[in-house]
Amino acid sequence: MNIILLGPPGAGKGTQSKYLEDRFHLKQLSSGDMLRHAVTTGSEVGLVAKTYMESGKLVPDDVVLGVVFETIDALPENLPGFILDGFPRTIQQASELDDLLEGKSKTIDAVIVVDVNDDQLIKRIAGRFTCANCGESYNDFFRLPKTEGVCERCGSTAFKRRSDDNPETVRARLEVYHKQTKPLVDYYRGKGKLHVIDGELPIEEVTRRINEIVEGAR
Ligand code: AMP
Repeated sequence: MNIILLGPPGAGKGTQSKYLEDRFHLKQLSSGDMLRHAVTTGSEVGLVAKTYMESGKLVPDDVVLGVVFETIDALPENLPGFILDGFPRTIQQASELDDLLEGKSKTIDAVIVVDVNDDQLIKRIAGRFTCANCGESYNDFFRLPKTEGVCERCGSTAFKRRSDDNPETVRARLEVYHKQTKPLVDYYRGKGKLHVIDGELPIEEVTRRINEIVEGAR
């Protein structure tokens, strides 16, 4: 059971990936997290990726493909499946992913687009933060932890915010999404795997619809 979560920054892909991890024991593979890790450790990939990420541009395909495929190659054989979060983001990435999976006799079972309009995204991104330990997503305006300062998922008291969640970079990331990533909607529609969800519905309803799709694709 392998899923792609497609959608603009701030659509809730990270939040929903965590729910899918918990419910279906799938592994979240976030290309953004992989690249942020590379930047933090100061690796060669990180040094290349940093400037692109800071300006909200896409990191070049060959760099991202290297990092993501290395991770897919290292997945344990007995894993029930994975959720790709933030990858692919270009037609080239999607087509190379198809080739990689074909060589491994694996498939993508469902591509779920979480659709949210730009004004709403800008508002959401301005308030978002995550648990520094487990990655659970929160928001100053929409979802604070039930107990102030304590992660509901793992109990950690450390939280973090992303440096690229500033208004200027967010606008660039949205533009990049519309130009370079949205064409993937037609790419996957053509393969008969596409499901579109209104990401402006309450979080629980978005989760319920995603669960229904994943159950149906099993
Ligand atoms: P995200 O956490 O998915 O919002 O990604 C943060 C940043 O990492 C993006 O703005 C890009 O600069 C870079 N990035 C993440 N995933 C990809 C990808 N699949 N292709 C190219 N760049 C990516």
